[in-house]
Amino acid sequence: MERTPPMDSVWPEAAPSTRSIQGSLARRMVLATLLFGLVFTVAAVGARMWSAWRTHVDAMTAELGLIDQVFQRTLAKAVWEMDRDSVRTQLDSAANVTAVGAIELRVDQPPMPAQVQRAGRSPAQGSTLAPTLRRELNYSPYPGAVNRLGELVIVGDEQVLWRRLRDEAASIVLTQAIQTLLLAGLVMWMFNRSVTVHVREVARHLGRLTPARLSQPLRLGRRRNAGDELDLLESGVNDLQDKLSRYLDRQQRYEHDLAAHRDRLAELVAEQTAELVAANQRLEDLSRSDPLTGLANRRHFDEMKEVEFRRTQRTGQPLSVLMCDVDHFKHYNDVYGHAAGDQCLLALARVLRDNFARAGELVARLGGEEFVVLLPGVDLPRARQAAERLLRRLQEQALPHEGVPTADCVTLSVGVATFDPETMDRFDQLLSRADQALYRAKDNGRHQVAA
Ligand code: GH3
Ligand code: MG
Ligand code: MG
Repeated sequence: MERTPPMDSVWPEAAPSTRSIQGSLARRMVLATLLFGLVFTVAAVGARMWSAWRTHVDAMTAELGLIDQVFQRTLAKAVWEMDRDSVRTQLDSAANVTAVGAIELRVDQPPMPAQVQRAGRSPAQGSTLAPTLRRELNYSPYPGAVNRLGELVIVGDEQVLWRRLRDEAASIVLTQAIQTLLLAGLVMWMFNRSVTVHVREVARHLGRLTPARLSQPLRLGRRRNAGDELDLLESGVNDLQDKLSRYLDRQQRYEHDLAAHRDRLAELVAEQTAELVAANQRLEDLSRSDPLTGLANRRHFDEMKEVEFRRTQRTGQPLSVLMCDVDHFKHYNDVYGHAAGDQCLLALARVLRDNFARAGELVARLGGEEFVVLLPGVDLPRARQAAERLLRRLQEQALPHEGVPTADCVTLSVGVATFDPETMDRFDQLLSRADQALYRAKDNGRHQVAA
C-alpha cells in the first residue's frame, strides 16, 4: 500500500545556508562613505583654505596699517626736512617687518617729476595676491596747515602669506581626514549593528527552514517594534511561514485522502478481479461439466482423451475405454416419467464416480444415457474386471425398473476396448472399438460386458 512521503523528504535541500557571502553590505557602505568623505574632504579643505587665506590677508592688511601708523609721521617729517638718510633708514626698517614685501615712497616735487624710493624683497607692483596699502603722505608743520608730500605704498609679502597658509594647511587636511575616517567607521559600526547582523540572521533562519521548523517564527535580536524596514522583513518572513505551513498541511491532507482513495480503489479492483477470476473458473468448470450429473461433459472428455492418447503413445502404457449405455432407458422414462429418469441418471453417475475415483480415471457423460470411462494404465483384462465390478455395484443399488425382460432393476451394458498400437493411430478408433463391443453386449442380451 502506497503512503504519502513525510513532508521533510520532499523539501528541497536548503542551498542558501551553504553559500558564502561574496560582498558585505557594510563594506560597500563604508567604501561609499569613504568616497563621499574624500570628495567632502577636498571641498571642505578647499573652503577652509580659502577662509584661512582670507584671514591671513586681513591680518596682513591690519599689520600693514599698523606699520603705516608707526612710520607715517616720522617719515613725513624726514621727507619735509629732506633728511635723506633718515628717510632711507625708515624705509629699510619698515621693509624689514615680516609682513612687508616692499615699500615705495613717491615724493611729488612739481614741476619736476616725482622722486621714487623703494625698499623690500619684492617689487612694489609684483604681487597681485598680497594686500597693498596706499596712503597719502601729509605733513603739518604747524596746526591747521596740511602739506601733501606724496604717496606711500606698502605691499604685503605674498611669500609670507603662502608660508602661513602652508603651516595651517597640514592641520586642516589632517583634522578633516580624521573626521571623515571617524565618520566612515561610525557608519560602518552602526550599519553592522543595526542592519548587517539582522540580515545575516534572516538568511541563516531561511537556510535552516524545513517544514518541521515552519512553526518556529523568525525573531531578530533587537528592540521590539522599531517599526522600521527590518520589522517589516521579520513580519513578512513570519507571515510567509504561516501561509506555507497552512498550505503544506492542506496539501498533506489532500495527499492522504488521495492515497486512501487510491488504496480503496485498488482493493475494489482486487476484489472485483478475484470475483471475475472465480466467475471465470465457475464458467470454465460449467463448460466442462454436465449440468445434470456434474460429471465431465463431452467437451472435457474430448480434451482429456487426446492427452491420454498421446501419453499412451509416448509411454507405451495401456489405455482402456468403457462405453456404458443404460438398458431400456426409453422404457424407464415412459414408466416412471422424465424427472425420475433424471434422478436415475444422477444415481448412475454417483455409482460411476464412486467406482472410478482413482487419479487419472475419468467418467464423462457423452449424452442421453450414455457414459464413457477413460482408464489410463489399465489393460484389457483389468478393464473388463472393472466393468464387471461396475455392473455388480449398480445391481447392489437395486434401482427399480419394472417391466423389462433384462432385470427388475436398472442395468447397464458395457463395451470395453484397449488401445492397440499395431492397429490404432487415433483415439476415435479405440472409441469405435468400444462402441462395437457395446453393441455386442446389447445384442447378446444387455446387462453385460463385452470386450
Ligand atoms: P437400449 O439402449 O437398451 O437399446 O434401449 P434404450 O431405450 O435405452 O434406447 P435409446 O438409446 O433409443 O433410448 C434412449 C432414451 O434415453 C431416449 C430418451 O428418452 C432417454 N433420454 C435421453 N436423455 C435423457 C435425459 O437427459 N433424461 C431422461 N430422463 N431421459 C433421457
Ligand atoms: Mg442409448
Ligand atoms: Mg440405452
